This record gives sequence, C-alpha cells and structure tokens, in this order.
Amino acid sequence: MTEAWRPDDEDERRGAIGPVKVRVPAKVNLHLGVGPLRRDGYHELNTVYHAISIYDELTARRGDTLALTMEGEGTGELALDDSNLVIRAAHALAGYAGVLPHARLHLRKQIPLAGGLAGGSADAAAALVACDALWGTGLSRDELAGIAADLGSDVPFLIYGGTALGTGRGEAVSPVLARATSWHWVVAIADGGLSTPAAYRELDRLRDSGAAGAPLGSTDALLGALRQRDPRVLAGTLGNDLQDAALAMRPALADTLKAGEAAGALTGIVSGSGPTCVFLAADAADAERIAAELTSAGVCREARVAHGPVVGARVG
Ligand code: ATP
Repeated sequence: MTEAWRPDDEDERRGAIGPVKVRVPAKVNLHLGVGPLRRDGYHELNTVYHAISIYDELTARRGDTLALTMEGEGTGELALDDSNLVIRAAHALAGYAGVLPHARLHLRKQIPLAGGLAGGSADAAAALVACDALWGTGLSRDELAGIAADLGSDVPFLIYGGTALGTGRGEAVSPVLARATSWHWVVAIADGGLSTPAAYRELDRLRDSGAAGAPLGSTDALLGALRQRDPRVLAGTLGNDLQDAALAMRPALADTLKAGEAAGALTGIVSGSGPTCVFLAADAADAERIAAELTSAGVCREARVAHGPVVGARVG
C-alpha cells in the first residue's frame, strides 16, 4: 500500500517516519499505604510500585488528525474519544511542545479495564513516549514524567517502570535500590472492574466506622526484602490498605486469595483498588502451576503468570 504523505527534510529531522511501537507494563503496588484525605480530594499515599510483564502496546503513525483505534481488553466498552487517556496524553504533549496533535494511534490492550493494574495510566505513559518519538519532540524521561503527573497519579511511574517509591498522591516517584532479582507473580483477573474512587470512598467509610484494619506502617521491611533474593522474605512484607475496601465491595475476592494460598502461593494481595489479585510464587514453575490451579478452581476469569520488575514505556 502506498502512503499519500511524503516526508520533507524537516520531518525527517524532527520525527519518526515509520510507525512507532511502544510497549508499556502494568503495575502492582507491593505496599499501598493510604494516609489522610487531602484538601484537594486525593489521599496522601506511601506506596511501592512494581512494573510486571503484562503489557499494552500502542502504535503511532503519522496522520492528518488525532485518531485512536483499539483491540483486546475493553474493546467496545472503552470510549476512544477525548476522555480516553491516550488522547488526553497526546494533547498534553502537543500543548507542552507546541506541535500539532496529529497521529493515528492503535492500542492493543492486554491489561484489564479498571483492574487495579493501572492500565489507563499505562496507556497514557505509552502515548507520551510514542508521540514524543513520532513528533521528534525529544523530551527527557523526567520532562515526560512532569507532563504525566497532570494526567494521573500512576502515570509518572509507568514512564520509568522498575520498582519505585511513590509519595504525594503517588506522582512523586523515586527508584528503589533493589537486587537484580526477578520475582514471579500470578495475576488473577476478575470478571468486571472496580472503580478506584469508589474503593477510596469505601476505605474512608470503613475508617470512619472503625471497621478498617490498622493502616500499614513504614516501607522499611519491604525495601529491605527487595535488597535480598528470597521470595519468602518478600512475601512477609507485602500489604495494601485498600484491600479491606476491595473485599467489602467484592467479597468473592476472599475466595480467590484463599485459593491462591492453598495452591502454594507464598502470599496473595489485592492489586491497588482491585479486583485483580496478585500472588507471589517461589519460582517460575510454581507460578505456572498456581495459575493453572486458580483457573481450574473457577475463582477468577483468567490467571496469568508475570515477572517483575520490568522497564516502563519503551519504543521497540
Ligand atoms: P488504577 O490501578 O490506576 O486505579 P485501574 O487499573 O483500576 O487503575 P484503569 O483500567 O486504569 O483502572 O482505568 C480506570 C478508568 O479510566 C476506566 O474505567 C476508564 O473509564 C478510564 N480510562 C480512560 N482511558 C483509559 C484507557 N486507555 N484504558 C483504560 N481505562 C481508561
């Protein structure tokens, strides 16, 4: 097929001619400490983000307008208009860099919608990296993360990936010193999503009525566990203050957590605001076995194996 568009010298210098393909991971929170509600409506967070090998892929091509198509998870459900975080990210970058927001974007989505794995934030991070390459705007990762912070609290982390500490409302990210170890996870994906704002409201309600568990303490034990190689040590340090809220909203998740641990997982937690549950396995073979058992137990829509940490949104 021949393209009508031909690059001139300026285009050649400034940006990619062919399609730009960006892969972006999902995140889990190894520690999600939820502090008080702030005056701006966000909760103060103290979290440890961890990027895992479940990916969305965004392809960006030159175009005369800004358009988005998609396939995979959420197709037919997720709006592809200006409300989509991919489109919002493209506009934000174009505004910052002073270029026209023209691109044909295609999203291949494997991260479930409203799953507590930050899929929307991942797509926003992917759009920033893809459009930066397509348009030749040449921003640094730190500049992209600055734009990302206005799009959502988890977006800056997904520009970097790895394992990182998040403070503020989660947007202030700093890398965590960790050994070059790969951890093995089983990700149990539920039918249907849970709303993140609803999970925070439920936590506030549980706390007001005295029914919430004690809030998580410091991340010191977890940060220590990340500097060694034994998954059993790491397992004892994972925690999520939103878990009680997710379980109150979706009581069946308790069965999923029980089934994972019965299948031999070292521990299981709800990921972010849920309903996805993540389990730490001793090794890759154990992860495969646990995933198969969870699938046959019928306690989730699908169980996938993943490893982490992995890098954030990258071209290639
Ligand atoms: P988090 O873990 O950050 O709370 P989540 O994984 O629970 O997020 P997402 O899939 O990131 O949830 O999306 C939450 C909502 O964001 C969706 O229900 C949808 O309305 C909106 N949204 C906008 N753009 C996207 C996108 N590209 N992918 C997914 N959701 C999007």
